Parts: sequence; C-alpha cells; structure tokens
Amino acid sequence: MTDFTKTRDFFHIPPGITYLDGNSLGLLPKTVGARVAQVVAHEWGEQLITAWNGAGWMDLPARVGDRIAPLIGAGAGQVMVGDTLSIKLFQALTAALAMRPDRRVILSDHGNFPSDLYVAEGVARAMGARLCVVAPQEVQAALDTNVAVLMLTEVDYRTARRHDMAALTERAHQVGALALWDLAHSAGAIEVDLLGTGADFAVGCSYKYLNGGPGAPGFIWTHPRHVGRVRPMVQGWLGHARPFEFAPDYDPAPGAGRLRIGTPPVLALSALEAALAVWDGVTMAEVEARAQALADRFIAGVEARCPEVRLLSPREAGARGSHVSFCHPHAYAIMQALIARGVIGDMRAPDVLRFGITPLYLGEAEIDHAVQTLAEVIDRRLWDRPEWQQKQFVT
Ligand SMILES: *Cc1c(COP(=O)(O)O)cnc(C)c1O
Repeated sequence: MTDFTKTRDFFHIPPGITYLDGNSLGLLPKTVGARVAQVVAHEWGEQLITAWNGAGWMDLPARVGDRIAPLIGAGAGQVMVGDTLSIKLFQALTAALAMRPDRRVILSDHGNFPSDLYVAEGVARAMGARLCVVAPQEVQAALDTNVAVLMLTEVDYRTARRHDMAALTERAHQVGALALWDLAHSAGAIEVDLLGTGADFAVGCSYKYLNGGPGAPGFIWTHPRHVGRVRPMVQGWLGHARPFEFAPDYDPAPGAGRLRIGTPPVLALSALEAALAVWDGVTMAEVEARAQALADRFIAGVEARCPEVRLLSPREAGARGSHVSFCHPHAYAIMQALIARGVIGDMRAPDVLRFGITPLYLGEAEIDHAVQTLAEVIDRRLWDRPEWQQKQFVT
C-alpha cells in the first residue's frame, strides 16, 4: 500500500502555499539540496575528473533511466535520460521515420503540445515527409497505410484528455505504422504500460510529475525489438559502442545506450536521481486512483461553487490524465489572484485555468481550500485589478 503521508513528507511545501502546478514543475524534494551540494563539494570539488568513473557519473543516464522505467512499464536498461524532451522527441521521430522509408506521413493531433508539432514539422521538412494533424477523436480514422509514424502525447497538456494508448498502438501496427508516445503528462501521473501496449518509442520529461527540478532532463525509450536497428540521427560520441576509442567512424552502442548523445548533465541528473527515491514503495495504480478521486472532488466543488467556469477536461475520470482544466474568459487574471492568495495553478492560452492533481503531496484539505479560494476570487471579482490584466512572459 502506498503511504501518501510518507510521500508528502518527502517534499518541501512552502508555508501558506497550496500547490496545484505539479503538472508543470513538481515540488522540491527535501533530499535534493543535500544531494546536489554533496555532488558539488565532494564529487566535482574533490574528485574532479576522476568522478566520471569513481562517482559513476558516466552511468547516470542509464541508472536514472532504470528508476523511471518501472513507472512507465519499461524494463531495465531500456530508458536513457538526458537532453530535453524536445530533443528526445526529435531523436525518436527521426529514428522511427527512418524505419519506414517507403512512407512519408507523420500523423499527430491538434491537442499535441506545440513543441512536439514544431519539431515534427521541422523533421518532416528535413526528411521529405509530411506532418498531418487531425482532431484527437479523428486519429483512429486517419490511420492508414500512408502513415509512417503515429506521434501522440498521451495526455493533452491543456484539456487532460487521455488517448487510448493500447488501442491506437494496435491500430497503428495494423496499418504498418510505428507508434511514438510522449509521456510528458503521463510519467508519474497515470499508469503506463509501454511493454504491454507494444508501443515502439516513448519520450517524456522529468520536471513535471517526476519532480526533477527546473530544466531537469528528458528521457527516451525504444521497444527492445527495435533498439538494435535504430540508427540515431544525432550520432553523438556517447552513443558510440566504444566512445573512448575515439574512432573515426560511428558504431552505435548495442542497446539503448545508442540513444545517448553527449556529456550527461551531472548536476541535474543527480537532483533527479535523489527526487526519484519518493517512488520506492509507491504503485502507479494507487497514485492514479487517488488522483482521480481528488480530481472528482475538485470538479464537484468547483461546479457547485463557481457556476461561471466551464469544465474543459473530460468528466469521466478514466478519460483524463492527472490535471483538471476549466475555461473562463478572465482566466489569466483569475489565476493571478489565486496565486496572490497562495493557491498556485497555471493558465494556458487563451482562457484555460489548469490545476495539477498530484497525490504524492496533495490531499482533500488542499483540494477543498483551492475550491474555496477560487469561489471567493470569482464571487467577489477579486481578479478585477489592472495589474492582473498584463500578462507576464511565462504564464
Ligand atoms: C512539457 C512538454 C514539453 C516541453 O519540452 P522541453 O523540451 O522539456 O521544454 C514538450 N512536449 C510536451 C507534450 C510537454 O508536455
């Protein structure tokens, strides 16, 4: 049984803050500061370059990948961590496209995150392919024998609508396409079974539900049936089978190691490794069930108290990821007023109030407090101040 009291105690929760933005940047685990300080002082400071071997720096991308693997239904040695999600997506998409040389369509949906669609557009241009973007509910019908790669984000960053990964992967395979899943809003949020669904590629980030900190690295996974045939587009030296031979020709590492590119971000990986300790003894099924119950409570409370807002997320818990979104024409100003009162969510253009439900550190009391505060802000028009009409760069 997952002990949510223990997981909550793992995090630093600033006094007076109700944090419903763990879907964008997770809370700071209490262990991270000391671990990073130790790496800086003892490993970097004292061991210097010998720490690549002596402190296991070079193994961090695989070692941290092994801690993420059980959360996404992957096996040991299959997940590599490093670079950013956008770069990992580029790697996975170019590798997948190259495995279907007779096909030139990348299929995605309008709910996908802009970076994913921008990257895909650039890849399509460079590789003579075409990006086809349809409505989320039309993906199944759009899958035909022209599609090389189905590239989807499982949970929509704006609405939280969840795709049926198993069914769409199966359909993609029926028409001979490969399935590439972005788990940015899935990893650490909902149960994912990459091996069970037979997906081909997956990528994700670690600063959202995995609490790795701002700019924490991304991850990449390839099904073991493909990895030996993946020819990386970015043939970085640390993806080489024997990087320290400094050979003139590229020879990819035999397994998932070929998905590495360059020097690992040691400080960021050390922070992430410390943060991932919270998942020991935690099962994703329990996290998902608890998040659904808390989200249902949140939706019921907001709908009862704030008739002006409209639920944007699916009402059925099983059709959602782990955040809840509502629409209101003054979403930005409302979110600023909420943040000023210690209830932190975020706003997504043009009019979406978004709240992340993270049961590792949120319970009924925080949900009820957020409902109460939102109701006050709306009922008393507390958002209606000129300084909250002016958008900051990061929303
Ligand atoms: C958060 C997110 C990103 C961000 O990518 P970075 O390269 O880490 O900045 C990309 N795609 C999706 C679906 C996301 O949710």
